[in-house]
Order: sequence, then C-alpha cells, then structure tokens
Amino acid sequence: MLDMSTVVVIGGGYGGSAVAKALDAEADVVLVEPRDAFVNAAGSLRALTRPDWAGNLFFPYDGLLAGGRVVRDRAASVDPHGVTLASGARIDADHIVLATGSSYSYPGKPAAESTADALDHLRRTHKELADAGHVLIAGAGPVGLELAGEIKDVWPDKRVTVVDPGTELLPGFLPEVRADLHRALDALGVELRLGTTVSPPVEPGRLGAFTADGVTADIWFRAHGVRVNSDYLADGRLTTPGPRGTVPVTGTLNVVGYDHVYALGDITDLPEAKMAGYAMQHAEVVATNISARLRGEDPTATYDPAPHPMILLPLGPRGGVGQFPSPEGPFAVPVETVVEYKGADLFTSRFAAQFGIER
Ligand SMILES: Cc1cc2nc3c(=O)[nH]c(=O)nc-3n(C[C@H](O)[C@H](O)[C@H](O)COP(=O)(O)OP(=O)(O)OC[C@H]3O[C@@H](n4cnc5c(N)ncnc54)[C@H](O)[C@@H]3O)c2cc1C
Repeated sequence: MLDMSTVVVIGGGYGGSAVAKALDAEADVVLVEPRDAFVNAAGSLRALTRPDWAGNLFFPYDGLLAGGRVVRDRAASVDPHGVTLASGARIDADHIVLATGSSYSYPGKPAAESTADALDHLRRTHKELADAGHVLIAGAGPVGLELAGEIKDVWPDKRVTVVDPGTELLPGFLPEVRADLHRALDALGVELRLGTTVSPPVEPGRLGAFTADGVTADIWFRAHGVRVNSDYLADGRLTTPGPRGTVPVTGTLNVVGYDHVYALGDITDLPEAKMAGYAMQHAEVVATNISARLRGEDPTATYDPAPHPMILLPLGPRGGVGQFPSPEGPFAVPVETVVEYKGADLFTSRFAAQFGIER
C-alpha cells in the first residue's frame, strides 16, 4: 500500500523540481514556488540577445506533476513540522526539502516572477542593448564571459569589454582550458581587463553613455553576486544559516539535526561550486533517501562533492571551452563537446522532457 506521506519541497529550481517529480508517484508532493514556470538559468544570456529564442527559458509547472500540486507562494518560515507561506497559509509536512537556491543579478536570473513580465523585461533590455556601441560587463566568471560570447555572436562588431578585480580567468581549472578560453575570447574580439574594478554611476542594463574608472561604455551588466535564498530561515525555528546564508547538511543531505528535513543545491554549505548539475545530483540522493523512508527503510544514499571542478562554458552557440572529470583526473574537452552538450540548445530539450513540453 502506498504511504501517502506529505513531502513539501520548497523551491522549484533545478534540484527542487527534480525531487518533486521523482517522488510524485510515491507521496503527496507539494511544491512551493513563487514563479509560474521553472527558469533554466543556463539559457538566460541567449534569451537576452535573441528575443525569438527567449521563450525557451521558461517551463510552466503545469506539466511537472501528475499527482502532486504546485502552490504558487513563497515560504516565509519553516519549522520541523511544516512551512508557513507568505500568504499566511500553513502546510504541515512529514518530509521537508529546502531547495530555494540562489538569486543572481539580471539577466543571469530574471527578477520578475511571472513569465510574461520576465519576457517583457528581456525584450526591453534587448532593444537598449541593440542600440549600444560599447558594452561593459562587470565580472569575468562563466556568466560574464558567456554573456560576452552571446553578444558577439549576434553583433560581431559591437565592442565588448569584460572587467574583473581578479587577475586570472577560471582559477583552479587546467592551464590548457584557461589558455583555450583566452584564445577564444581574443578570436571574438572581447576585450579583457583583469585586476580592474569598475563602478558605473548608472543603473545596469539601461542604455546611456557613461565613463567610470577609465572605461567609457553605452550600457553595462553586472555578472557577479550570487545571493543564497534563505531569508525564511532567519527566525531560527529550523536551523541557523551560516554567514553566506547556506545551510549545514550531512552526507545524506539531511539538514543537520533532522532525519526528515533535507536541503539541496545552492542553499547547501557543501564545498563545491554552486551549479545546476550538482543540484540535480543532490536531488537524486534526496529523492532516494525520502523514498527509502516512505518504505520504512533507513536512507543510505550519500553525496560526496567531486574532487575536481567541471565546466561547460559556451561562447555563443558554436564556441566555448570545457573541462570534465574522469577517474584519471580532469581533462579539457573540445569545442564540439561544449556545443553538443550545452552550447547548441542550453539544455532546452532536457527540460522539455522533464516538464512534459514539446520544443
Ligand atoms: C546565467 C547563469 C547560467 C548558469 N549556467 C549553469 C550551467 O550551465 N550549468 C550549471 O551547472 N549551473 C549553471 N548555473 C548555476 C545554476 O543556475 C545554479 O547552481 C542553480 O540554479 C541552483 O539550483 P537550485 O535547485 O539550488 O536552485 P534554483 O535553480 O536557484 O531555484 C530555486 C527556486 O526556489 C524559488 N524560491 C526562492 N525563494 C523561495 C521561497 N522563499 N519560497 C519558495 N520558493 C523560493 C526560486 O523562485 C527558484 O525557482 C548558471 C547560473 C546562472 C546565473
């Protein structure tokens, strides 16, 4: 007989939507999420440069769950017995999954919660970007560099400068991957100014010439500053987030101190880069462990962060660099692999299948 325990998943991003779907047939799943659609952040930068493609960023929650439900609201407080929502409603839970991830400066992740508003914002920014001769990007991490690549793919003649206070690209990755990246950026004509901080006096993402710290440009974008979404834990009724807002977890991805509460993805304090790929691996571990509990068994699945970093960093749909792990150690992947695994469709087909949508 099915144990219809209630599993409340808070946050329907990469990790939360995967856990909710995995447990949908075994439990009464409630997914709490303020957006009307899952956002595949990997596609955000192309959604800005190609308005005709931008709809691919969003996957409505309607097709995700067959038995469970999605409650369009936000967690305001969580305690060991359930969640209190911003609307004041209360959902009691047998198992709780914290999956509220992180926010990122626009356009990395949309600020608006409705697809229509987010698309409208992207299209307005696209018009202003189209009219800019010189674009400044603050942040030379993967997001800033991918944005530079997408802009150069659509407007090869637009001047693009990327600044960063750091002195090297992709620290911690293989020297050959970093050398490939410099060559690819040079070939695109992207100007890099490392060891430089620029504080433009104008709003990001708006057309309007400015000069700041020796750089003159027509528009700028902020490509740094991940913020962990854990405000709803600030009352300390469940756990106390660390200084960066992350939550301490055990090897089975339980929130420390609770057998029936889990956390995954960017909200965890795991010593690894904050990546969707890892959030989805966490989701498998959490779903396996909750499933074991639903059958009355002890959970045994554990998660160990990988010893070496990995990355796929497209520079537009046809270029980019990457590094994969292997039992013999990390290795640089050819551009064809970057294009095939990520650059060509930015994971659109993978999420179309998960959300039951034809694309
Ligand atoms: C531009 C860009 C490109 C990226 N590309 C890649 C990539 O190619 N590969 C990769 O591995 N990683 C990539 N990342 C990183 C990746 O997006 C994050 O690691 C990932 O989003 C984390 O997933 P998550 O499941 O932890 O949470 P998220 O995907 O951040 O989802 C959290 C969800 O929780 C919701 N939420 C927030 N607060 C509340 C609340 N109080 N109550 C209820 N719900 C709430 C949010 O609306 C959101 O839907 C990229 C990031 C950016 C910004």
